Amino acid sequence: MTLPALFPFDNSYARDLVGAYVPVVPQAAPAPRWLRFNHGLAQALGLDAERLAGDEGLAVFAGQVVPAGAQPLAQAYAGHQFGGFSPQLGDGRALLLGEVLDPQGRRHDIAFKGSGRTPFSRGGDGKAAVGPVLREYLISEAMHALGLPTTRTLAAVATGETVRRERALPGAVLVRTAASHVRVGTFQFFAARQDSATLQRLVEHVMTRHYPELADSANPALALLRAAIDRQAALVARWMGVGFIHGVMNTDNTTLSGETIDYGPCAFMEAHDPDTVFSSIDHHGRYAYGNQPGIAQWNLARLAEALLPLMGADTDAAVAQATEAVNAFPAVYQRHWGAVLRQKLGLRPRADAPDAAPDSADLALGQDYLALLHSGQVDHTLGFRRLADVLRGQPAPWLALWQAETLAAAPAALQTWLTAWQQRLAQQGEAPAQVAERLDAVNPLVIPRNHLVEAALDAATDRGDLQPFEALLAAITRPWAADLADSPWAQPATPAQSAGYQTFCGT
Ligand code: AMP
Ligand code: MG
Repeated sequence: MTLPALFPFDNSYARDLVGAYVPVVPQAAPAPRWLRFNHGLAQALGLDAERLAGDEGLAVFAGQVVPAGAQPLAQAYAGHQFGGFSPQLGDGRALLLGEVLDPQGRRHDIAFKGSGRTPFSRGGDGKAAVGPVLREYLISEAMHALGLPTTRTLAAVATGETVRRERALPGAVLVRTAASHVRVGTFQFFAARQDSATLQRLVEHVMTRHYPELADSANPALALLRAAIDRQAALVARWMGVGFIHGVMNTDNTTLSGETIDYGPCAFMEAHDPDTVFSSIDHHGRYAYGNQPGIAQWNLARLAEALLPLMGADTDAAVAQATEAVNAFPAVYQRHWGAVLRQKLGLRPRADAPDAAPDSADLALGQDYLALLHSGQVDHTLGFRRLADVLRGQPAPWLALWQAETLAAAPAALQTWLTAWQQRLAQQGEAPAQVAERLDAVNPLVIPRNHLVEAALDAATDRGDLQPFEALLAAITRPWAADLADSPWAQPATPAQSAGYQTFCGT
């Protein structure tokens, strides 16, 4: 008896987009060892989790065995990095192993990161280190648990190799799943080469995969642009809601699927401050928390430019339509952001203001609260989470978030806001306890706190101790668990712990 294939691969990218990739083989790791296997994800994908979690899976993820049906390839893409255009980036330390369909018929890329050099590696070694790999594992799975669209992590494997960065580090491979890895930069690659034929195939591929409802559009490229704008606006609004800072919102890290991708220098904001930046290379704060919506629009303008050649022979008309679509971003974003804020405050859309157009009074109420959090240097996550306690008649935990000076200096501002919020809630005719229940299901208690993430990665890197990583992973994948309220996982960093916190790209 022969066992069925480990993965039921169906490789649409390899099939549809010849010329948009280079076949590659993963480099075999000398002494692989499991760091973590994600049973839950394997099961959700309809894969044989038991086999994958064993030696067979380890050999595949370590690049020692290419599984039946795989067509490993490095994808070509370009990208604007910090505003400057690179016509050729591509998978320099990643490869797409193949695609699988889950039991619901949804397609997922199975990809490796850190599996060795490819024709796109330029000066790099194609490798990844244990720290950044576990970091991506933690943050991507936290984002998924928080309900945000994201790539996920199926496995992390130590290679037994040493990777040279500023210092010698243990090497690792991350196994990433994604709805696809097509980025704005993929379109830019072919646009820069004036290869409209491949661009056209790329549009068709992305439409089939992510926007099948647009199949019959009169102007597919324009329809795709509008749809991608909507998805990115929705995604960034969700980031802003949980205080996520991507850190490196380059066009090659902006997906067409609307999933968050590329967990490098990302981090969650603690005290609310729109100027928060963690990335060591983001000297001018281009990708600061508060800049993210504007940067998303900028990236989508680059997508619009790349798609222009496919938007019709009348160039002036195409430019006008594309410009109109990109200029609509702020309004589209505002609609999604209004919905996020409303949810975070327990506000239901008013009867006279349907969800499509958030009442400006609700938006203002939300923005006023964020301004209060900012002025009081209050933790973004708990600042929302503990509002439910106020509704339950137990304001003490919420009050404890505000520094004595703020309470002394602006008690009226806080009281005014609370009154306005509670009056607005009262108009909904719901019992406060009922609203509190809903808030607890929306506002997380646990996010991956930076000092805890660092401690977990340091333990794994320096001592090979995965216990802190495991404990943190268990907590952040239960972000709403009320029983964690008094645990260390739910406490903001002390000023000493958060002072000067910096993240690195991990390349
Ligand atoms: P990222 O910072 O992960 O978005 O990567 C930007 C570009 O640099 C992509 O083309 C990567 O494939 C490439 N890259 C990053 N790190 C390495 C590395 N260690 N070896 C080769 N290429 C790399
Ligand atoms: Mg990238």
